[in-house]
Amino acid sequence: MKQIQHATLQALAALVLIGNFVSVAGAADPPASPAVDPAFAADLARVRDAAANSDWAYRRLEELTDRIGPRLSGSPGQAAAITQVAAALRSLGARVTLQPAKVPHWIRGEARAELTEYVGRPAGLTQTLHLTALGGSAATPVGGLATRVIVVHDFAELQAHASEIRGHIVLFDAHFNQFWAESGHAGNAYGSAGEYRFRGPAAAAKLGAAAALVRSIGGADYRLPHTGITRWDGQTPIPAAALAAEDADLIARLAQQGPVTMNLLLTSRTLPDADSFNVIADWPGRQHPDEVVIVSGHLDSWDLATGATDDGVGVMGAAGVIEILQKLNLHPRRTVRFVAWASEETGSQGAQAYFDSVKGALKTQCAAIESDDGAGRALGIAAAVSKDSREILKPVLEALAPIGASILKPEEGEVGADIATLQESGVPGFAPLVDSRHYFDYHHTAADTLDKVDPGNLKTQVATMATLAYFLAERNDCLPRVPVEAPAAH
Ligand SMILES: [Zn+2]
Repeated sequence: MKQIQHATLQALAALVLIGNFVSVAGAADPPASPAVDPAFAADLARVRDAAANSDWAYRRLEELTDRIGPRLSGSPGQAAAITQVAAALRSLGARVTLQPAKVPHWIRGEARAELTEYVGRPAGLTQTLHLTALGGSAATPVGGLATRVIVVHDFAELQAHASEIRGHIVLFDAHFNQFWAESGHAGNAYGSAGEYRFRGPAAAAKLGAAAALVRSIGGADYRLPHTGITRWDGQTPIPAAALAAEDADLIARLAQQGPVTMNLLLTSRTLPDADSFNVIADWPGRQHPDEVVIVSGHLDSWDLATGATDDGVGVMGAAGVIEILQKLNLHPRRTVRFVAWASEETGSQGAQAYFDSVKGALKTQCAAIESDDGAGRALGIAAAVSKDSREILKPVLEALAPIGASILKPEEGEVGADIATLQESGVPGFAPLVDSRHYFDYHHTAADTLDKVDPGNLKTQVATMATLAYFLAERNDCLPRVPVEAPAAH
């Protein structure tokens, strides 16, 4: 049964990814490999197999989610997670340091809303809505807001209604494109709908809106609100929240018939930035200990759930790479550096602190891997590398073929929010390419819990990252730098 599922998944991957991804090897038809020392190839296979058979990462994920739970930046949960992860890496014998970073400290508070006026409303009835505040939201007045809702579907429609916005609540009703997600473009679906969560409230604030609501960004409709950060871009924050998709639909239908009025109460607060840390754990290289290959995920999570898939699975999967090297007693030429980033969800301040610490010696940053695309099965590697590097990576894909993770997806830009700054400086960037067709079903909701993680899928992710990291750290040279576009002249 397992074999059939695996074959089906591979066939699906081949079908939906054709034209977008480059399939370099299949289990049945391995490519001719560029010259790789047989002993090196054997070590890659040992790393893969050890990872594919280890439940260490899943056990650590279980500890993280069951004993600590939510880990929003600045919260006690985040602080406890830093201590827990540092201890786990120390117990492997890695050299652990905590790198200070100031992070946002926002408190969700309560969120309540109901529809109080609409065409055909029977006297005395109201409709309760399911919503949650967006990260960075301001509070409503203590007694709440009672005002009209203006529904728009995009920024052009917002501008067309500019004169009606002042004092009212704007609802951005932009749909998540699940078809894109199911055809291998979940990131595009997220980015497209996400524009309205990222920039919508600031745009509404600029026009004098009293509050802004967004339709939740998600691929399954379980009446779950999906939170996430919103960016103020210099605007004074206003109350901002995400409605469950079903409630956005309800308001959109009623608004077609006439004015809709809402009571909205949010009690969110922003406190002064808090002290936090990246956890850095080095597995020292035997020949060039000053050169590093980063394996990473982010340790912070949203506060509605235990962040099992975002990004517990990524951060513990990356930690699992160190466990495999320890178990096999392998010290590649370069240092393999695990990083648990402090604050991806609230602006990657941890990543900025790291970048600031290495920007004077970027040559030491050989490559960076970040895992932050959910708990799906690994299908291969997303690689933002120079064109000539794709050929160099073939032995890794060949080594991963037996576990079905042999697709190379070339990327142009950012493959992980926390390694983006390194990438912009020419550092080759990687992410495990995972099946993310259903990643956004529970993303940033109260349902992002451990049961959503298939331990077998996590093993494929650890195996993919461990094999890639070992390859990058052991080869004679770092991969060529990625050409950085010169700033456009005006
Ligand atoms: Zn994430």
